Amino acid sequence: MRSSSPLKRGTVLVADDDPVMRLLMLEMLAQVGLDAIEAPDGAAAVELAAQRAPDLILMDVEMPRMDGFAACEAIRRNEAANGADGASIPIVMVTGGDDLEAVTRAYEMGATDFISKPINWPILGHRVLYVLRASDAIVRLRIADAQNRAVLAAIPDTFFRLDGDGFYLDYEPGQEQPGRGRAPAQQQRPPQYCVGKHIGDVLPAEIATRMLEQMRAVLTTQQVRSVEYELDHCGESQHFEARLVATSTSQVLGLVRDISERKRAEEQIRRLAYCDSLTGIPNRQAFLETLERELQRSKIGNKKFAVLFMDLDAFKRINDTLGHNAGDTLLKMVSERLRDTTRPSDLVSRGESAVSSASNLARLGGDEFTILIPDLERVEHALNVATRVKEAMRRPFLIEGNEIFVTASIGISLFPEDGDDCGSLLKFADTAMYHAKNCGKNNAKLYSSSLTMQIMSHVKLEVGLRKALQNDELYLVYQPQRDVRTSEIVGVEALVRWRHPERGLVPPTEFIPLAEETGLIVPIGEWVLRTACRQARTWQLLAQRTLRMAVNLSARQFKDENLSQMVHSALLDAGLEPRLLELELTEGTLMDDARATMVTLERLRGIGVYLSIDDFGTGYSSMNYLKRFDVRALKIDRSFINGLPQDSENAAITRAIIAMAHGLKMVVVAEGVETGEQLLMLEQYGCDMVQGYFLGHPSSADDITGMLRAPLILPDRLALPAAIALPATVALPAK
Ligand code: C2E
Ligand code: MG
Ligand code: MG
Repeated sequence: MRSSSPLKRGTVLVADDDPVMRLLMLEMLAQVGLDAIEAPDGAAAVELAAQRAPDLILMDVEMPRMDGFAACEAIRRNEAANGADGASIPIVMVTGGDDLEAVTRAYEMGATDFISKPINWPILGHRVLYVLRASDAIVRLRIADAQNRAVLAAIPDTFFRLDGDGFYLDYEPGQEQPGRGRAPAQQQRPPQYCVGKHIGDVLPAEIATRMLEQMRAVLTTQQVRSVEYELDHCGESQHFEARLVATSTSQVLGLVRDISERKRAEEQIRRLAYCDSLTGIPNRQAFLETLERELQRSKIGNKKFAVLFMDLDAFKRINDTLGHNAGDTLLKMVSERLRDTTRPSDLVSRGESAVSSASNLARLGGDEFTILIPDLERVEHALNVATRVKEAMRRPFLIEGNEIFVTASIGISLFPEDGDDCGSLLKFADTAMYHAKNCGKNNAKLYSSSLTMQIMSHVKLEVGLRKALQNDELYLVYQPQRDVRTSEIVGVEALVRWRHPERGLVPPTEFIPLAEETGLIVPIGEWVLRTACRQARTWQLLAQRTLRMAVNLSARQFKDENLSQMVHSALLDAGLEPRLLELELTEGTLMDDARATMVTLERLRGIGVYLSIDDFGTGYSSMNYLKRFDVRALKIDRSFINGLPQDSENAAITRAIIAMAHGLKMVVVAEGVETGEQLLMLEQYGCDMVQGYFLGHPSSADDITGMLRAPLILPDRLALPAAIALPATVALPAK
């Protein structure tokens, strides 16, 4: 039996004046493994209690010298004097039977329990053991309680208890700690304010509802839950986290902590992780996540969206020539323009978008930007955005006093047509962007699965083009340029042709961009120029009159250091007067880099060749520059002539260009004249020269020789209806 175990379980002080009683008690205590010390009276008991610190005292009430009550009181007094708060040694009083008054007094004097006579000897030991255990538990409880108090005092959290219905049982405001934010609004209220109230009367309704929800969950699962919420404090928002834990099946303890600082730090980290540090717009990571969300949303909602991939066409050059600071400034300005262009109202055609506006636009790195267009109803909508973006880029950027001209190439991929995962959509938009660049920059192209095929054939074409020069596959055709008044051929434009051994005739619009991109345009252009100069010289000798030869120069050639030397040598070799050679440049070529352009133009002017602006009106150019560059002629792009005479807007533009060019003493050539009406109208507008199928297709040198010899056979202009209906808005110039 446990009771007879020899284990030492503690020491009991037995205070009784009757030696027999003491003996019996000692015996009974020994049986349950308890040691004992003896005191014959109250005074001795007090002394021994102090000296030996027993684990329990059995104290007879009636004793000589000092009775049990007085001894009990004295022991408690000593304990208090020694700093123990409240009773510590359990004292069991042994009272006379039925002596109720003695029992009451015993408790008043600080006794723990009592045993009444006659003593039930067999259970005495167990009784004492029980009291010992109970008092032990009380001691542990008291320590735990003190610890809890210390913990609560040490942490800044507000602490409360709620009953199962959401009423406050307890409320202890947390410490206000410097640098750790303030306590929540209700936290500063005195505890009495909350205790007894319902949580719904203390916290805003929405927060209280969530708190109650979680509280119920805590009570059913008995697991810790937390609720985060935000409170407005003096116009400043504070974030809190309440952790709820069940203390029983019907009560919940809550600890509320101010997490405003953490929230701010998290927000800062988020910003750093998701923002491009240079431009402040979302970065690649943010875009990928937005894309993923949009993908899921579109899959569920059966919606379409587009990914636009934009790359600046000449960024590297700007970086190289103007330095990285200018490059950075440009990127910032570009992202601002993009932001303006891609506001959500612009992007979303109809209905609300779940995608936040901020992350629709992103900078992937370098000069690469992406735009997400959600809720796409028609592909045209994506193309419209692309057009707007290109327009936005076309306006010059003023950086460090320089006007920088930039174009952008854009690739577009579509969900679900092109792919159904983020990686593919981004990759295809990128591929489409490259395709757009290959098609002559400042372009926007859609990715379609056939694009990959196109790119494959593009690579093949490049291989072929490299051999075209050696294999004599290139040749020139010439298109007449006629004087509007006399109808005489005053010049020709040399246009290159490529007869591909397998594909047949490849149009220049396809292979010129490829030649530019690969740099092949430099040798090809030189061959064109030399061939054209020789041909011009031949005609000059043959026709015995001045016939100007116009040769197209691409931007890439214009950038070539040796250009002026090459032009000079081509003229010299052919024996052609420089004034009979006209170089056609596009607006983009001139505006690209105004400073370097000036130098090259100066050299060409030194040689004595003429310059004209090709495809005028399609690019962006500043009239000031044209004047400074000493341009002889403007060639109005055929897209303006195309719609004449019906298109009143183009008619007005054409008239304006002519008037303005004349104002700057420039000659105007209209391109792509296909009908007699167009010719008549241009004549009425005062246009100087015309070029187009109506006046002569690009033809072989022999055919041109024939035209130069033969009298002009033109469809009779006078046979045209006398009055051609001109757009009402366009008044004829008085001439
Ligand atoms: P461009 O310099 O603007 O040449 C005029 C283009 O318009 C030529 O196309 C010509 O055939 C076409 N055209 C002429 N009259 C008409 C007309 O009445 N209606 C229509 N619809 N079109 C007309 P082509 O020969 O296909 O050349 C296209 C472009 O390729 C040229 O445009 C030029 O930018 C480039 N190119 C051609 N040859 C050379 C070259 O030797 N060097 C360089 N760098 N570019 C060249
Ligand atoms: Mg041309
Ligand atoms: Mg042209």
